[in-house]
This record gives sequence, structure tokens and C-alpha cells, in this order.
Amino acid sequence: MMQQKSSPTLPSSKPTLYPPLKIRDNPSTPMLHRALQEECYEANLWLPRHNLVDLTFGNVSVIDRETGVIAIKPSGVDYAVLKPENIVLLDLDGNPVAGSLKPSSDTPTHRRLFQAFPTIRSIVHTHSRHAVSFAQAGQPIPCLGTTHADYFYGEVPVTRPMTADEIRGEYEWETGNVIVERFVKLDPEQVNAVLVHGHGPFAWGNSGAKAVENALALEIIAEMAWKTLSLNPSAPSLSQALIDKHFLRKHGSTAYYGQ
Ligand SMILES: [Zn+2]
Repeated sequence: MMQQKSSPTLPSSKPTLYPPLKIRDNPSTPMLHRALQEECYEANLWLPRHNLVDLTFGNVSVIDRETGVIAIKPSGVDYAVLKPENIVLLDLDGNPVAGSLKPSSDTPTHRRLFQAFPTIRSIVHTHSRHAVSFAQAGQPIPCLGTTHADYFYGEVPVTRPMTADEIRGEYEWETGNVIVERFVKLDPEQVNAVLVHGHGPFAWGNSGAKAVENALALEIIAEMAWKTLSLNPSAPSLSQALIDKHFLRKHGSTAYYGQ
């Protein structure tokens, strides 16, 4: 798979970094914090390696669901100088748990999504160019081929434009709210990415590595869709039978793809 070919040292998508239960019982245990910081740090480093970020536009967060502690990239720190111990730890209400640096300015969006989507463990935000192009066009990414259906069950949606009041108010929190609003009738485990209108993509997964993989898949299928629509603006969506076949053989209770 792509993950094995292009990123041989990505951490396993299985949550194996977690210590035994007796350590989880104490939310202040440094070992738990360290494991979260390491997972978040590794995932953040994969963004520039996969050309998913320019400058400092991008961030990854990881949550420990047992304690509600979130690890997230510090604000404005260059990836070249980022260290695991720089990763900021805070709780779901945004109160600092450890670390002296300011968390990413997008932190309220991440907190809102962790609150609304209880099954996700990691969130990636980038300004990857093809996904941003769809977001700026205000268009969802249609499911035109099986590469898309391997990762996303149907089109990747775009939010409505934010109102002036939302933008002037708690902007980053309201960004989370328009995503949540868009997912009222969608399952975040079947469609694990979204485009914020005029802004860019958020993707998520059950680990830092998986969330980065989904963000990379999103950028790849955005580029493919853009080129497909350039060749044929009325290219048809993939049939529901093919969408079902490709998504469901890799995800959910009937999955059979892989080892
Ligand atoms: Zn952004």
C-alpha cells in the first residue's frame, strides 16, 4: 500500500503507543504525555515530507480518549526545528496541561471536532494545494474513481461559507461548527475529511499516522479529480456499486482487503 511504499517508518495505525491501564489511570503520568507528544510530533513531521504544507500552514493533533488530553503542534513553529517536547498538551476545554508554548491557532477547531466526533483520535489540517483549490471553488470533491472510493465513501463535502458574525466572533471554534453542521447527515468514519469553504481541508483518523495518510489521500484524489474534470467537465461519478465495493472491502465489519 501507499503507506508502506512511501513512508516506511510511519508509526502503525494501530494505537500501540499506549501504556498499560495503571498508567492511564493517572492523567498526569509523564509517560502518557510523552507517548502522545511523540505520536503527534511524528505525524506533524510527515506533513512537509509528503509536501502537504508550505511554510507553517498545517497542524496535527492527537487525543487520548481515556484522559481527554490533546497533543497539538505549537503555533508558528517551523517543522525543521520542532521537537517532541515542544508539542503542546491541553484538555478538551482548551486549558493547558503541559508545555509553555502557545498551541496552534487552529486548536479550537480541533477541540470542536474531537467533541463532536467521539470515534476519531487524530486530526490533520493542511493547505494542500489541490484540496484547497476545491475549497476555494466552493465545490465538493466528487467520487470519480476507485482511488477515491478506497478512502472516502462518496464525495468529500465542502462546508457552507462562514457568516461575517462567525468570522468576527470565535472564528476557529465556528470553523469547527460549520464542519459539524455539514456532517449532520454524514458519518465521520465513512467520510473522514472535509473542505472548509474558501479555506482548506481537515482530515482525521484513529491515529496520527492514519490521519496523515487520509490527508495525503485527500490531496491525491483532489488532484486526480481536478485533472479528470479538466479533460471531461461532465465526467460521471463512480457507480454506487463500485463505491460500495472499494470502500467496504477496506473499511467496516465486512472488510477483507489487506493482511
Ligand atoms: Zn488553515
